[in-house]
Amino acid sequence: MKEQPLIPITQSQLLDTPSLWFVLTNKCNLRCRYCYEDTGDASLTEETAVRFLDCVIAERKSIELSSEILEIIFFGGEPTINKPTLIAILEFIRRNQIVCVPRLVTNGLISDDILYRLIDEDVYFQISYDGPASSQRVTVSGEDSSPMVFETIKKIVSRDAHLLVRFTFHSGNLGNMLSAIDFAENHGIRNLAFNAIAIEGQALKNHLQPPGSDEFVDHFMKAYEKAQKKGIRISNVALSFPERIKYTNRHHCLILLPDGQLTTSIKYTSSSSEQAKNTIIGNYDVKQGIQLDFDKMRQINTTFQANRLRTCAGCEIYSKCMGFERFTANAFNEDITLSEQLRCERMRLLIRAMQNKRLP
Ligand code: SF4
Repeated sequence: MKEQPLIPITQSQLLDTPSLWFVLTNKCNLRCRYCYEDTGDASLTEETAVRFLDCVIAERKSIELSSEILEIIFFGGEPTINKPTLIAILEFIRRNQIVCVPRLVTNGLISDDILYRLIDEDVYFQISYDGPASSQRVTVSGEDSSPMVFETIKKIVSRDAHLLVRFTFHSGNLGNMLSAIDFAENHGIRNLAFNAIAIEGQALKNHLQPPGSDEFVDHFMKAYEKAQKKGIRISNVALSFPERIKYTNRHHCLILLPDGQLTTSIKYTSSSSEQAKNTIIGNYDVKQGIQLDFDKMRQINTTFQANRLRTCAGCEIYSKCMGFERFTANAFNEDITLSEQLRCERMRLLIRAMQNKRLP
């Protein structure tokens, strides 16, 4: 039997995704000093978003895939800024009884009217928050956003809605990792995620340093063991890849950008830069439907296969990761940056530490 390519090369392979993303807008109401994105101002229209989802569901049915999608993710910029499109998609999901987990990836600076509407729509919230004070997560006017985001967290917890709080670490705030567990326990938060900054975008401009990998993993393990005793789940992007691969046996996302371009990598949330253009595999248009560049998809698959053989040789966790931890670099022929190397190093150390402790 012919082996399935790991990166989709046909429309049906692409549509068979566990993870459908809508980048609702590139606008943001924060100016985080470690943000990896370039803030633009493009936004996805209601019509494009809803008709795209309708088209994906119809195409999936036509090739006898279930209309059930593991997760539909709302991303930005700050996705709640584009409230009309966000609500239009949620209403479409409900009206058409699409089985999925709708996830909102937000900075937590959300007005009450949209917040309570999203809670009523049973949205899963992922909020970025680095503790009670942060000099990195600042508003457009330079104010610390933490107190305002904390209010949002309290409102979500008080309504018993699904919530994951994501902390981002750099060399200067690793000490907050253990106290994040106390914070979660004191405020009724059951799910945390701990990740490290990427040395790209704003972090590079602001000369922020990543945490040392050994130090990161040391803090992570202590926090993990403390969290386990308190019934708090703590995860990390590095650990989610093996979980996802095991669970779905599919790895890719399908992402609609604000201008209708399609991609499988969330590294770029706008198609405007030259590097982002390498990642675009097609576009969606309400008149023409989904149009894919099959030559580009085949090229991306070939590049991925060749680069991961070249750059992952000898990696001790290859059978778990299969080259996906540096998916963007492996698939789009980018140089392996220091950030990519550190991601792999942290993942190897984390998995080794988990295995040594016989943790799942
Ligand atoms: S951790 Fe990095 S080097 Fe190892 S298999 Fe994954 S992508 Fe390749």
